[in-house]
Amino acid sequence: MYFLPVGQGDATVIQCPDGSLNLYDWGSISARRGPFWATKELRCYLKCSFGDIQNILVTHYNSDHYNLLPQTFPVKNHELTGLKNIYIACTEELMKQKADTFAEWVKTTKAKVEVFRGGKKCGPFEDEKCDIKLEMCSTTKKGLNVQTFVMAANLGGCAGGSKLNVDSIVTKFIFGGLKILLSGDFEGEPQVSTMVEFYNKGDKKDLEETEVYHAAHHGATSKANTKTWLGGIKPKAVVSSGDPWHTYGHPRCHMFDLLLGKDNDMEKCLCEHGAATNPCPRDSSKQDTYSCGQPEIKKEPVKKENPNTHGIYTTTPLKDHMNLIHVASTKEGSWTITIPYTSVPKTKGD
Ligand SMILES: [Zn+2]
Repeated sequence: MYFLPVGQGDATVIQCPDGSLNLYDWGSISARRGPFWATKELRCYLKCSFGDIQNILVTHYNSDHYNLLPQTFPVKNHELTGLKNIYIACTEELMKQKADTFAEWVKTTKAKVEVFRGGKKCGPFEDEKCDIKLEMCSTTKKGLNVQTFVMAANLGGCAGGSKLNVDSIVTKFIFGGLKILLSGDFEGEPQVSTMVEFYNKGDKKDLEETEVYHAAHHGATSKANTKTWLGGIKPKAVVSSGDPWHTYGHPRCHMFDLLLGKDNDMEKCLCEHGAATNPCPRDSSKQDTYSCGQPEIKKEPVKKENPNTHGIYTTTPLKDHMNLIHVASTKEGSWTITIPYTSVPKTKGD
């Protein structure tokens, strides 16, 4: 799984053992600046692989989760020849209202549009499971076990407006020994508590067994990544998108403090103090304080039994580094997090 440095947005590439690719959100509202990737870099990165993209999932209808799709894959030279499914939250009608260019673009792909339970809420309920099986990595080589599990969709009731985030599709991927949770911008009560209570009920540890957590809502903390949610997940490592120059100030230091057990103690904020009033961090040189000391290209396997719990990685650039984040499972049953790129990929002539 590759988390690309697009700034305030999400762009994740899921590579299956057979080499096929899937996109899980593909958007950004960062102004094109500095080191963040935009259309050109995304196209360079995917070069020669457009035909391998089989599925696209858009967690919800905020543009920072889809607006790079029409830009990266323009209609006039549609290279997505292998695309089978586009998974969306809620209904196509809502997509047309909230995501006009995206809705038009979807029609040009000829992919099958898959909604969950006809746009009704699904997931953390005994009789309202999400009834679509994601076809991501469904055909895998013998011996490589990959499972996908849609844990929630449409929990905001598809009402649009300020509840779009709550509708986010939440998916758990199990790649061999790696359990990774992708949650779009999922947030809000009572939905967060419902999820934790349902999936961790009794002996169940469906949420709590998460090893790598892709921070919801880019590491926001007012409604997302609350103590209840993070306490229900207990991740060993966290990957977050974000843009330190954007006024949202994602990811918030408070999320990292909660993960490290310093809840409500903003003075011990890992980056700049005063995160509640000032976006943090403004100084990109401070980013390495919560990028787990991985400013260089390194392979440091994170062992399941490693009590050194909270590895924290962000796609925010470290000075001149790019922070594309690669999370991979290994045959031995452990997993690794690496930062394989230190500069923008280039094509000939660029
Ligand atoms: Zn977002």
